[in-house]
Amino acid sequence: MGQYDDCKQLIVQTAQLLVGKGYLMATGGNLSLRVPGKNAFAITPSNYDYMKMTPEDVCILAIDRQVIEGRLAPSVEAGMHAAVYQARGDVNAIVHTHQVYTSALALVKASIPALFDEQVRFLGRSVEIIPYAPSGTSFLANTIAKHVRNHHNAYMLQNHGALVLGHDMERAVHNVEVLEKCAVAYLLALTTERKVTRIPLAVREIAFAKLRKDQKRIEAGEYKPASE
Ligand code: 13P
Ligand code: ZN
Repeated sequence: MGQYDDCKQLIVQTAQLLVGKGYLMATGGNLSLRVPGKNAFAITPSNYDYMKMTPEDVCILAIDRQVIEGRLAPSVEAGMHAAVYQARGDVNAIVHTHQVYTSALALVKASIPALFDEQVRFLGRSVEIIPYAPSGTSFLANTIAKHVRNHHNAYMLQNHGALVLGHDMERAVHNVEVLEKCAVAYLLALTTERKVTRIPLAVREIAFAKLRKDQKRIEAGEYKPASE
C-alpha cells in the first residue's frame, strides 16, 4: 500500500458522492485534501470523468505544486487550492463546485448575509462574492488567497461557482450542502421582493466565535470541534 492511498481513496469517494448529490456536474469543479503531516495535498485530475476516476488517477502535489505522484495533469485550479492551504492552517479539505443555486447568486453578485444560525456556525458571517478572474489563473488564486483570510468557509466565485473549505473532507461536504441550502432559500426569498430578514447581530457573533474557536484549536493541533 502506498503512503497516499487513504487520501486518494477519500478524494474518489467524495467526488462520486458529490456527483450523486448533484453538486458536481460533468467534469466541472475539483477537490483536494491536505496530506496529514506533509506539506502536500491530493487533488483531482483535470477534466476527468468523476465516475470513471480511480485512486490511481488522483494527483499528489507539493504545496509549491511540484508533482509528487500522478500520471494525469492535476486540476487547473491546483494553484487556488495551494493558496488556500498556505493561507489557512485550519483547512484540510477544499471543494470547488459549479453548484447551480450558489452559481446563480454569484452571477448577480448577491453575497449571502447572515440568514441562519447554522450558516454562520459553519460558513462564517456571510458568504462573499470573490470578484471574477479567469479559471485556472494565478489572478484567481491570488484574489482568493486574500479573501480567505477572513476565516470564512464558503465563498462564491463571480461568474463561476463555489469555493468551500473544511477542517476535514466530511465537514467540507457538509458545508457544500449548507451553502446550497442557503442559496436556494435566499434566492426564493429574494423573488418575493419582500424584505429578507437576518439573524440578530449578537447571535451571528456568538455563532462565528464558535467557528473561530474550532479553527484555532485545529490550527494548534488540538482538534475537537464543539458539536453544537
Ligand atoms: P479541472 O477539471 O481542471 O479541475 O477544472 C474544472 C474547473 O472547475 C475549473 O474551474
Ligand atoms: Zn470551476
